[in-house]
This record gives sequence, structure tokens and C-alpha cells, in this order.
Amino acid sequence: MTAAERLAEIRARIDRATAEHGRAPGSVRLIGVTKTFGAEDVRPLIAAGLRDFGENRVQEAAGKWPALRQETPEIRLDLIGPLQSNKAAEAVALFDAIHSVDRDRIATALAKEIARQGRSPTLFVQVNTGEEPQKAGIAPQETAAFVARCRSEHGLAIAGLMAIPPADESPGPHFALLAKLARELGLERLSMGMSSDYETAIAFGATDVRVGSALMGDRPQTRPENPGNLASG
Ligand SMILES: *Cc1c(COP(=O)(O)O)cnc(C)c1O
Repeated sequence: MTAAERLAEIRARIDRATAEHGRAPGSVRLIGVTKTFGAEDVRPLIAAGLRDFGENRVQEAAGKWPALRQETPEIRLDLIGPLQSNKAAEAVALFDAIHSVDRDRIATALAKEIARQGRSPTLFVQVNTGEEPQKAGIAPQETAAFVARCRSEHGLAIAGLMAIPPADESPGPHFALLAKLARELGLERLSMGMSSDYETAIAFGATDVRVGSALMGDRPQTRPENPGNLASG
């Protein structure tokens, strides 16, 4: 299948799941996750009409996207991977949304850069729904207090919550937990669902699905700067 055919199939499945679960048409945004792929692999998707893309590393995105955006200015770029506070300036300058706000240090750094640069990326708080020690995200029981601090102490507008369920568990309960937390906090956006479970995520209320391999094909097995990162994706 070509990239355009894969995109059309995923869009059709998103539309079907959206209708099946009584969600408003167009209420689910497809983010094409292009990490580890080069610009030449991304261009066919842009040509086929995709405008929302996600990357998990600031440095990789900074090398890949400025040229592509010059060609297609309407592109929206989301940071879906962990953020270090020393990369906050670059992240605020480069991304339209950041899905990985998960501690006060990051919130402080983002608030400072948002004020300094006059740019306001859409922000998601990442929740570690499976409470996995190796995974980024705030613990579910600490989420309400952290979102409150983001608002009152850091002055950040939080749009929604994001989660990556444990790889070896059924994702439904994790999506349900994230949706419940968002509802309790009055947050409208839910970034959840990847290649293997985006339709399930839509059933539980996902507004932003992050689809990589189903759209791009299998990721290259080596990425010299940080090969360990591939295993988790
Ligand atoms: C890589 C990645 C995805 C996409 O994963 P696929 O299974 O290839 O669809 C989604 N979200 C995050 C945070 C990722 O790092």
C-alpha cells in the first residue's frame, strides 16, 4: 500500500469508529507520528493531505520539520515524547502542542518560554495510568493537584490529558481512567490511542490519536543517536 492508501484507510476507520460511538463527525484529530522517518517518507503524506504530525524528540524534529513547514505552512507539529526542561525554549518555538507536561520543573520552564516567546502551544498533561516506573507521566492520583498547580501557580492553560497504556495490558481500562480524570477536571482533549488501539481509544473519547507504524510502516530499527528509544515506541 502507498502512504496515501494507508492514510485513507486509517481516516475511514477513524470516521467509522467516530460514528459508531456517537461522537461528532470530525471530533477526532489524526496525528501522524513520523519519528525515525526522514522528510522523503513524510512528503507523500503531506501531499495526500495530512497536516498534523507528531515527533517524540525535540532534536530530531528540529532537524526535519523547518524545511517541510516552509513548503507547507499549515502543518501542525506536536511533541508527543518526554521533554527536558533545558529543551523548553526550543520546544515552545517549534511545536504547536506538547503532550508530555508531567512535572513542575517542566511547567515552570514552559511558562517562562511561553511568556518570553509569545507563543502558546496547546498543552496536555501526561498521566502514567499504568504507574510504570520507567514511563513518563504523573501518577493518576496526583493528576488533579498537578493540573491545579499548572493553572494557578504556573499560569498554564491545560487543554487535556495524554497517556500511553502499558504495552502488555488491555488498553480499555487505561483509556477509561484517563477519560474519567479529564471529565473530573473539566478538560476536553484526550490524547490517546496508537496504531494498535486507536479505534478503542475513540470509543472511550479520544480527541487526538497518535498513529505511527500503521501509517508509516515499520520504523527503521536503528536510530544512531538514541537506539534505546525505539524499543518503547
Ligand atoms: C511512537 C509513538 C506513537 C505511535 O506508535 P505506533 O504504535 O507506531 O502507532 C504514539 N505515541 C507516542 C508517545 C509515541 O512515542
